[in-house]
Amino acid sequence: MIVSMRPKATQAEIDHVCERIREFGYQVHSIQGEERVVIGVIGVGDVTACLESLEAIPCVESALRISAPYKFVSKEFKREATRIPVNGLEVGGEDFVVMAGPCSVENEKQIMETAVAVAEAGARILRGGAFKPRTSPYDFQGLEVEGLKLLDQARRRTGLAVITEIMSERDVDLVAEYADILQVGARNMQNFALLKSLGKCRRPVLLKRGMSSTVKELLMSAEYITAHGNPNIILCERGIRTFETATRNTCDIAAVPVLNELTHLPVILDPSHAAGKRSLVPALCRAAVAVGANGLLVEVHPCPEKAISDGAQSLTLEQFRAMMKDLKPYVGLWKESRAEELAAAG
Ligand code: PEP
Ligand code: MN
Repeated sequence: MIVSMRPKATQAEIDHVCERIREFGYQVHSIQGEERVVIGVIGVGDVTACLESLEAIPCVESALRISAPYKFVSKEFKREATRIPVNGLEVGGEDFVVMAGPCSVENEKQIMETAVAVAEAGARILRGGAFKPRTSPYDFQGLEVEGLKLLDQARRRTGLAVITEIMSERDVDLVAEYADILQVGARNMQNFALLKSLGKCRRPVLLKRGMSSTVKELLMSAEYITAHGNPNIILCERGIRTFETATRNTCDIAAVPVLNELTHLPVILDPSHAAGKRSLVPALCRAAVAVGANGLLVEVHPCPEKAISDGAQSLTLEQFRAMMKDLKPYVGLWKESRAEELAAAG
């Protein structure tokens, strides 16, 4: 159950409601939202009796039964799409938002050249890892703070917002100082300590699906962040591991409409890690538009053969321009149906 308090409810009233809920055998988890306190009711108890009792308390605005284990991120809790403000634009709103840039921030020239080119081609957000999760401890681990500073410079130069990966709870404040969106990588989707600390952060979070995680597990991880106070989450499908070896991962394209049925959070696709091969990226981008994703996260590098990481799946600047141009008519159709959807939702 989710219980929404009236906007001006006092602490004594909130405590009273929590006490009533506990009497029915439940645990409570309350969140201070922008306008009101919302109480998550967890556990096993007498639902009908509890609902009846809560509805009779004047400071309770509504009490809703939610069957999904992920409460706050479920469509049952909130039907309207969540729109996430990022530097003057919105992810999950009327625009299809493209985030693009290199896998890793390597040096000033590389990130500036990429930022200028992707901005000109129509991307709105610059990606680039400063802290890199690498399979081998001997591989490049990222420029860390120096990389964050270079992203900040690129933002000033181009006006693009910046997304970069956060790997440890220890670095949340540091990365949040420089980035507009904090990316949780596939390997950290169930790093619960990190998810909890991102709950306390004021920046939006892009949560990537773990490579062997189910859609439900992805939503439970998003629930962690929301339950700890941060409702601004963008979900990202980036391919999962299967028996197939023709691609680096298997792009679970169906996960996008599945998520759109289950959650109000925006969903984007990362075709680069899904495919592992640049020639496949444009087709997967078109697929993302067609299945109703809210945007893309694409790897682009000025000289992929010299890239320190993920060169094989990175588009060149020219290929990115061409991909964006080819995508335009599809995005046009996407916008029309999106506008209708948003209007119908009121
Ligand atoms: C990345 O975006 O460069 C990355 C490491 O992605 P993932 O976490 O999806 O592997
Ligand atoms: Mn990468």
